[in-house]
Amino acid sequence: MTGAGALILLVEDEPQMRRFLRVALEGSGYRYLEAGTGQEGLALAVQHRPEAILLDLGLPDMDGLDLVVRLREWSRTPVIVISARGQETDKVGALDAGADDYLTKPFGTRELLARVRVALRHAGPETQQEPVFVLDRWRVDLAKRQVLMDGKEVHLTPLEYSLFTTLIRHAGKVVTHRQLLKEVWGGAAGAQPLYLRVYMTQLRHKLEAEPSRPRYLQTEPGVGYRLRTDD
Ligand code: CA
Repeated sequence: MTGAGALILLVEDEPQMRRFLRVALEGSGYRYLEAGTGQEGLALAVQHRPEAILLDLGLPDMDGLDLVVRLREWSRTPVIVISARGQETDKVGALDAGADDYLTKPFGTRELLARVRVALRHAGPETQQEPVFVLDRWRVDLAKRQVLMDGKEVHLTPLEYSLFTTLIRHAGKVVTHRQLLKEVWGGAAGAQPLYLRVYMTQLRHKLEAEPSRPRYLQTEPGVGYRLRTDD
């Protein structure tokens, strides 16, 4: 079977639809990841580099088309849009935005699997390019370990970079003090929330327009920090 074992990312907020997709994909030997929001979907795409993406257009936090546009800034992973919107203009809009295919709900398992096989066949080696995280003025090349702001390189120390990319990996979600200390400092003895505050202040000075009023690198009082990805 073409592409068996390939990793597919599902970006869909309806539990029933997700379940249907899951059963269909699993039954054919695919591996899959799930996201219920667009931001989560983008974060998973950066982190896991799926071989194809099944994308709902009506997501709680963004329009699926915006996700396609964002994704196409760094990835050519095939995207199959799955949507209840069946108008020709919707289809053309999705394809123009950079999607590869379009399935109108409802659809059957066999049709879905056929489209996935086609998408995977068309996925050339160029889909395996390096993951890049883009947010507003930032462009972070996770493979080159390069951080650009407005196109200019920002020099981060290894710890600052590690802290920043840990927040990127969990983009949109709160990351607790404990989690950050573990992931950034490897649970080294003596590492404590005070370190985090110091490094977070440094990061904000390098990356935020107004470091004292951070727009993205946010404190969750008493809990941890969050890289905010919505505006
Ligand atoms: Ca939906």
